[in-house]
Amino acid sequence: MGGAGWRGHGAVLLRGEAADRGECARAIGGSQYTRGRERSRSVRRTRGRAGDLTVPLRLPGGRPGPARPVAVRAGTTVSGWLDVPDGIDPGTAIPLSVVRGRRPGPVLALVAGTHGYEYTSILALQRLLPRLDPRRLRGALILVHMANPPAFYGRRIYYGPDGKNLNRVYPGKADGTVSERIAYVLTREVIDRATHLVDMHCGDANESLRPYAYWLVSGNARVDRASREMALAYGLDHIVIDRSRPKDPARSGYTANTAILRGKPGLTAESGGVGRTDAESVGAHEAGVQSLLAQLGMMEAPSVRVAHPVWIEPSEVLRSPLAGVWHPAVAKMQSVAAGALVGRITDPFGRLLHEARAPFAGEILYVVATPPVSQGEPLAGIGRLVSERGARAARRSVP
Ligand SMILES: [Zn+2]
Repeated sequence: MGGAGWRGHGAVLLRGEAADRGECARAIGGSQYTRGRERSRSVRRTRGRAGDLTVPLRLPGGRPGPARPVAVRAGTTVSGWLDVPDGIDPGTAIPLSVVRGRRPGPVLALVAGTHGYEYTSILALQRLLPRLDPRRLRGALILVHMANPPAFYGRRIYYGPDGKNLNRVYPGKADGTVSERIAYVLTREVIDRATHLVDMHCGDANESLRPYAYWLVSGNARVDRASREMALAYGLDHIVIDRSRPKDPARSGYTANTAILRGKPGLTAESGGVGRTDAESVGAHEAGVQSLLAQLGMMEAPSVRVAHPVWIEPSEVLRSPLAGVWHPAVAKMQSVAAGALVGRITDPFGRLLHEARAPFAGEILYVVATPPVSQGEPLAGIGRLVSERGARAARRSVP
């Protein structure tokens, strides 16, 4: 999918030259284009806010040079490139579409491809885009088709070319390495404009994963209630209750957590894995997004809302204490007893170095399915299914 092949849809409305300069200066991360009072005025005016759909994009077939602010008109769809400028390492361009309905409503951000070897979300957004008719939509959708192009085209797991996990560096840094600059641009241009967000994942290239969602509990009752409803609407019946994410918006770390700490309900959804693009895993993301559109009152669409959720708490990532050759002893979705063998790590000669065991009785959410493991990296995710009594208590804790 090269730049030249990316087609825009619908009309765009360009704003006046003053707003243009301010937006461009911000888009390319420089200050040389605006100075002093003029700059602070234009930065204030153009700073992203929920519902502001004037986005600095390079449009396919547009004139070369920096991105220009594109005001997406009601009832249209616009696709283009969101620039992440060069910094201490090379930048990138993030493919993005804005679908704006004719009537006002929520602004739902869909973020795909944060991890470059996780393909199901990227394909799900490709399939969804032509079916999202802006004339039938209330509110707007911001589709981040591929959040991490350097990781996608480099076929990288976990980390970008700078060795950083994009889903740990939010809200990012304007002057950081490329993963941090991607997070910075997505925070300002996507998360700050959205009212709701879905961060779409699957198991990485080495992870065999059962479908599940994360309900991130922040302590803000309004947001947590709405996030819970979104997780149920997405249709993945196993839902991990995670209260452990950072609570400081300046160190939010994760994509969905960044939205939630800024008062925007959201979830993380996992479907698929091991580099596959199977129709069932892609379809679960597609169905989840459509169901969410129905739940948020944005579009008439089939609901796959979970009737009987399987809540999971606690969940734990088993990590490798050393580098070695991994021999898994369990499969995804398998129930394990406390202390059960999850897998063995040997040295290259086959001598046993470590046995990984379940810290508590639970279900295997995902397990590394390929031999290489490195110190500190995941071996498996395990979660305890919450009893009905526990589930009622969890609901009570979020009134
Ligand atoms: Zn991921």
